[in-house]
Amino acid sequence: MSKLIGLKTSITSVFLILVAIIAVHQVPAIAQLLGEVSFNQLALLMLISFLFACQFNHSRFALMILLFASVVVLESGKLSDFSLPAISSQTIELSVMFFFAGLAFFKDRSLFSVHLVPRLALFVFAYLASLGWLFILESLATYETAIPFYPLLKPYLAIDVIFGVVILIYMFKCATTTHLFYPAALASLLLWYVTRAHFIDVSWQLSLTLLVSYYLLSVVASSYFLAYRDELTGLPSRRALNQLALSLGRNYSVAMMDVDHFKKFNDTYGHDIGDQVLKLVAAKLKQVKAGGRVFRYGGEEFTVIFPRKSAQQVFDELDNLRQSIADYQMVIRQGVRKTKKDRTPKGKQQVREKTVSVTISIGVAQRMKGQTFEQVLKASDELLYKAKKSGRNNVTK
Ligand code: GH3
Ligand code: MG
Ligand code: MG
Repeated sequence: MSKLIGLKTSITSVFLILVAIIAVHQVPAIAQLLGEVSFNQLALLMLISFLFACQFNHSRFALMILLFASVVVLESGKLSDFSLPAISSQTIELSVMFFFAGLAFFKDRSLFSVHLVPRLALFVFAYLASLGWLFILESLATYETAIPFYPLLKPYLAIDVIFGVVILIYMFKCATTTHLFYPAALASLLLWYVTRAHFIDVSWQLSLTLLVSYYLLSVVASSYFLAYRDELTGLPSRRALNQLALSLGRNYSVAMMDVDHFKKFNDTYGHDIGDQVLKLVAAKLKQVKAGGRVFRYGGEEFTVIFPRKSAQQVFDELDNLRQSIADYQMVIRQGVRKTKKDRTPKGKQQVREKTVSVTISIGVAQRMKGQTFEQVLKASDELLYKAKKSGRNNVTK
């Protein structure tokens, strides 16, 4: 069973959007402030969010916006001029569910490429699937008396059962991944369900305004994380370090750390295991005390900034950290291929556990009067070099 890595983020996101909608519903002042959102305002918000989502390659957010835009247009009656056949609201509701069911299995590929075709086909699939489902229900109705419990189940088969299945798919995705799309989709489905079923009396247009604003925020937030977080270790990246450097005061210390003989480690155990070790080392470094803030500088190098601390004040803490990493017996999981030609997918391979350990060397320097951040960083890097020279697995100040 995969770890529930996305549970916290998902619960928070879904909770926030539901609180927002209840606030709009329960607090008249908020509802008044927002007023009734006009069709044109909503269209503008959708267009901006759609372009943003496309620009940052969040095509699933873009597709959700397209879906809801189609619903708004279909229901606004603006298409009646084109003498298109009317689509019943039940078909629309089912199509939305089937669309989300399909979308759960798509990736964020650029919309304006060959990948556009299957994504547009998803709209057709959702519509046909809803027609198919309604047809099946109609056919079943003729055997009403023959099927046990059918009359009892009947009112729920039209939409609630499908809704339940799709919600389960998204809950699973939310819990096992960290992508912001899944909580956003889950919140959308819940909101769609409660407002469409009139459990709460908020106009669909107002809910949609909240939802699309939330999509916009998610796209901006995840682009921020992309730029400022290192994907492998989850630590802030070098760019975030440079950002922090701008707001540091006059007194601080910088520690540069580097994993010892890591090239050899990779050569012995392979790059994948090297990656796992970097993750575990990063997790250990996150536990740093004395107000230290950890960054992945690049490769197997990490930086810790200690605001308002001298090198003397943080030396013991760094040495403890070094020692705890040296003592850390890391359990590594490795997929085993029986032969070189064995093409068994990774998930199905036999998994073997092994224990490894690494050491790190640290150079720590404090800011001297008149020094720039780059100069302090360079000083700590030179001390790191010294630490390596003097046998590795030590802290040099
Ligand atoms: P030293 O004790 O002097 O630091 O020796 P070293 O082998 O660690 O030094 P060097 O800088 O020559 O090698 C760093 C190696 O770290 C090279 C590369 O194979 C490995 N490395 C850098 N980034 C990553 C990464 O993201 N994943 C993995 N698995 N290995 C990485
Ligand atoms: Mg290095
Ligand atoms: Mg190294």
